[in-house]
Amino acid sequence: MRNNAPLRELHVALVGMSGSGKSAIAVKYITKRFIGEYDSTLEDTYCREETVGGQCVMVWLMDTVENASRDEMRWIAWADVYIVVYDVTSQLSFQYAEGLLERIARHEHVLCAREHQPLLIGNKSDLERYRQVSESEGERLAAQHKAYFAECSAASDLRQFTKILHNTIQNYLSGARSPSPRLCSSDSE
Ligand code: GDP
Ligand code: MG
Repeated sequence: MRNNAPLRELHVALVGMSGSGKSAIAVKYITKRFIGEYDSTLEDTYCREETVGGQCVMVWLMDTVENASRDEMRWIAWADVYIVVYDVTSQLSFQYAEGLLERIARHEHVLCAREHQPLLIGNKSDLERYRQVSESEGERLAAQHKAYFAECSAASDLRQFTKILHNTIQNYLSGARSPSPRLCSSDSE
């Protein structure tokens, strides 16, 4: 049973190279189903109420699309948590993920809501025979950026993804800071 405390909200942005499996992860997380084909131009935000450590939180999950005609960093001010996704069968997507982690770190100084470490996710772990990025490479990159790390498969097993997202939600719920407003006026001057 829910108590009368206002429901807290957490904004989570899924970012990464096109094809890395962001939409597959978002849909699997929300519906528990893997559909297989997604419109690669579609950007959507889903929500799901989670109960973590006995507390409820509304998780808003933005499935982003890189689009040159829009502000590529529009999600950075919106999100409390950044999930950087790469495809373990694609070195290119791993390099792209590294670039994103660097870009997120560069924006850290103007954001107040950065109490959470980013999450680095190596997706498509079911495609072991096509693997181009080892788990230890993922761990190393995550350590460099003080990010949480997990491999998962939207197609077959999202448990590791869910586990580190829940850890992050737990940290957020136990943290003192409110997630908004996101721009810190004293830092951004
Ligand atoms: P996005 O562009 O990052 O949103 O990537 P999508 O979610 O559209 O996925 C790109 C392609 O990879 C699609 O054909 C998906 O079916 C496939 N895909 C996504 N996740 C997985 C996975 O965990 N395993 C496998 N085998 N394929 C996946
Ligand atoms: Mg997509």
